[in-house]
Amino acid sequence: MSRRVLVVGSGGREHALARAICASGADVIVAPGNPGMPATMATGTIAIDARPPEEIAADLVVVGPEVPLVDGLADRLRAAGRLVVGPGADGARVEGSKAYMKELLVAAGVPTARHWTIADAAEAAGILAELSPPYVIKTDGLAAGKGVLVTDDLDEALADVADKLSGASFGDAGTTVVIEEGLTGPECSLIALCDGERAVAFAPAQDFKRALDGDLGPNTGGMGAYSPMPGLAAAEVDDLMDVAVRPTLAALRSAGVDYRGLLYAGLMLTPSGPKVIEFNVRFGDPEAQVVLPRVTGDLVEVFRQAAAGELADAPTFSDEAAVTVVLAAAGYPASPQVGATISGLGPDGQLAEPRPGVTVFHAGTSRPDPDGPFVVSGGRVLTVTALGPTLAEARATAYAAAESIAFEGRQLRHDIAAKAAEEESR
Ligand code: AMP
Repeated sequence: MSRRVLVVGSGGREHALARAICASGADVIVAPGNPGMPATMATGTIAIDARPPEEIAADLVVVGPEVPLVDGLADRLRAAGRLVVGPGADGARVEGSKAYMKELLVAAGVPTARHWTIADAAEAAGILAELSPPYVIKTDGLAAGKGVLVTDDLDEALADVADKLSGASFGDAGTTVVIEEGLTGPECSLIALCDGERAVAFAPAQDFKRALDGDLGPNTGGMGAYSPMPGLAAAEVDDLMDVAVRPTLAALRSAGVDYRGLLYAGLMLTPSGPKVIEFNVRFGDPEAQVVLPRVTGDLVEVFRQAAAGELADAPTFSDEAAVTVVLAAAGYPASPQVGATISGLGPDGQLAEPRPGVTVFHAGTSRPDPDGPFVVSGGRVLTVTALGPTLAEARATAYAAAESIAFEGRQLRHDIAAKAAEEESR
């Protein structure tokens, strides 16, 4: 039976979803998509469609980004009888409000950093004075991953609180802030697929949030990622699911939320055990670009089971490693400059000189002339993923491929997966 799957979104994550769904034998429509997405696949087809998702016929809908979920897209589609991977607006509050997420975690008994939800600068100053660095200040509302400041400098923390509360830096999303106890330890992105009751894990990944090498510079949407994580065996992943994801899903269920979709726990593996630093209600971007290329087996069937509330299978993964490197525009994240012409890509948007195991996922690209070159149209422009037998090999291939793509002001980190590739060889 032919299967048609609609993917909602237009970034690198949605491109990775489209390719993975296509690889499990389905035809994919991406709305609104991106001109770099249509690409010839061994199985299935990928098409882009500018119509609203509600108007596009499909057997299954997978919603990529958080904003339409927070706005209730999944509710509207379900009301029209559609099978959807993605929570309704009630479940999406887990990401839409950090204050709500924190309340839920405390109710579920999930370990997380101590926190204070605050709308008053003097109160914030009093709390910060009692804490020791690093100081962590977050916007309560959505800020595309950029609303978090982690700093050892108290004055910088106080200035950031003032900018957020006044609405100067993040508008309404920042007029309530969450101050958190600063945690330390390696981070792990654990992405689960839920059917309202049960949760199964995708392979763990690690992403790189800061703009510059050595975890310096401002927070971004993500500058690279890798999967698997050396030293995190399948049994430990299941333990993390028991600590972080399953109790949260149960707490949502007790609150009357039928959560069917992806639930992403951002964990910090601290000296006193794993703690949740955030929950997202969709795949990470760029984690999707390393986790999904490793999927084997029928991803569409697992998605269908989750959407139908009858999850029986779990996704399966190849032993290959994946590394992805984000190419970002000049000025990203503060003020990305658009319009530069991209070289090194062929007419299909993939490498002009193909390399085995490499896929270029498009995010901030456009093609003003349908037969002409791709140009930069957003902050994160491309994500270059390579698969390889080891992280070290995948990393070398990803960087060689990334270096073959050029545009004015191109930014990339040079240390994605560097430590992990060293650990793997020990
Ligand atoms: P979030 O958007 O909440 O995931 O935060 C973005 C990044 O800020 C995380 O990936 C961490 O690197 C860092 N971060 C967030 N919360 C904390 C915390 N409580 N302690 C230390 N670092 C944090």
